[in-house]
Amino acid sequence: MDYEMYIGGKWAPSANGRQMEIICPADGEVVAVVPDADREDIQLAVSAARAAFDADDWSSHLHAPSRARLLRKVAEAIREDVDRLAELESLSSGKPIIETSVIDIHLAADCFEYYADLAAHIGGRQVPLAQQALDFTLREPIGVIGMIVPFNFPLLLAAFKVAPALAAGNTVVLKPSEYTPITALELAKAFERLGVPAGVFNVVTGYGKTAGEALVTHDAVDKISFTGATATGRRIMELGAKTLKKITLELGGKGPNIVFADCDLSQAVSGVLTGAFMNQGEVCIAGARILVERAIWDDFLTAFLERTAKLKIGHPLSWDTNVGSLISQQQLEKVEYYVRRGIEQGGRVLCGGKRPDSPEVAGGFFYEPTVFVDVSPDADICQEEIFGPVVVVMPFAGEEEAVALANQSQYGLAGGVWTTDIKKGLRMARRLKLGTVWVNNYSLLRVEAPFGGYRQSGMGRELGVEALFDYTQVKNVYVELEDEILYLYE
Ligand code: NAD
Repeated sequence: MDYEMYIGGKWAPSANGRQMEIICPADGEVVAVVPDADREDIQLAVSAARAAFDADDWSSHLHAPSRARLLRKVAEAIREDVDRLAELESLSSGKPIIETSVIDIHLAADCFEYYADLAAHIGGRQVPLAQQALDFTLREPIGVIGMIVPFNFPLLLAAFKVAPALAAGNTVVLKPSEYTPITALELAKAFERLGVPAGVFNVVTGYGKTAGEALVTHDAVDKISFTGATATGRRIMELGAKTLKKITLELGGKGPNIVFADCDLSQAVSGVLTGAFMNQGEVCIAGARILVERAIWDDFLTAFLERTAKLKIGHPLSWDTNVGSLISQQQLEKVEYYVRRGIEQGGRVLCGGKRPDSPEVAGGFFYEPTVFVDVSPDADICQEEIFGPVVVVMPFAGEEEAVALANQSQYGLAGGVWTTDIKKGLRMARRLKLGTVWVNNYSLLRVEAPFGGYRQSGMGRELGVEALFDYTQVKNVYVELEDEILYLYE
């Protein structure tokens, strides 16, 4: 499959004529070829987005109902195409088809539907003043939004940004990951088919250093919304400072998943397993630090290891695959490095710790689900994001120690608490320094509920009405109602 980019309502190759191959990480097959864009293409896309925004026939509040109608149709188009989109997503990212077809693509459609419902209801507030005046706020779109997304949930994370940004009346230039740009281009096809005005939604494919940095430094881009690694987020803030970009960052994590002795053990094991190994651990919210209360240490560990051993490693398109392929050789080497480092720093591997032996998966970047114990909370594998199927299990005694261990992190994205004592669950939720706390669940994202990081996990929020706020700016309007006004200069 050969793709072009979608810029200003037209399909185009990159100005430099370069292309890049999109490879299935599970078997090395070429899935597609896409343009390898750089500054010139970004320039064209930003100009198109700027013109569409300034023309006012998309961005004005008068068009909110038509924006809502279009976003609803985008949701329908995604839903009608779930099977094909899920397959494309799994092929290029290596993630199991059961995840893309049951979760990712549907949730992307939910996101467009949710913001379609909100598009015509974005309002400000009346400001009470102790004088004869009417004061109120308006929430207006920001302008051109540059969006940069990672490889692990390609369409879904794009939808988290595109849907609220467009609902609020902004225009968009989206740069997907160089590994997984296909579904963003498929989304552009839907926008074209549905008659979304030219320039409102643009997709430019390319690498971070070239296309990504050109987008971040472009002076006609009003805001950058980024999801990716914390180190890249820092770089984006530095680059964005020159043009004072508004910036939203969704970054890395090292989620604590806390299992109390009074939990429903079977539920907790299922939830912890999902948090640990979903998407082969390439998840920002992965529950990679599993804290288990001493009283149930043996029972939990036995059940957890038993279930881990049963996880099926396989090709992303096989329906019985639980653990797919990591995205690249580089990512595989990073995982191998951390496993070595964990052992060097005193950790003990209870299962996994190597690439699978099966010849079926020899052609990809697969790694066995790996469980460490005896790891100090300061060890690198406890503190740094590995982004692979590697977790540490640590014991604790009581709430105080659980809170201290869980909060001992530079990150603060999401975490879980397993207990049948709801008061304890709520106390823990308040004490954890995290943007999301699940009590008796893990990994669950709903479009209605805000999501984002404390600490080094980011700034700003996605989803919920909070994301709409992040894609609008506030204007205050003061209307004088006094007949007699005292001016400083008469
Ligand atoms: P990455 O930071 O390497 O790349 C993400 C995107 O940024 C890609 O599109 C890439 O091309 C682009 N990019 C890279 N360098 C850039 C630069 N200098 N300027 C502009 N753009 C640049 O991340 P990744 O490896 O694709 O994804 C994994 C990371 O993403 C993990 O750290 C994970 O925790 C994080 N993540 C966070 C969330 C969240 O919501 N908080 C969700 C998913 C992934």
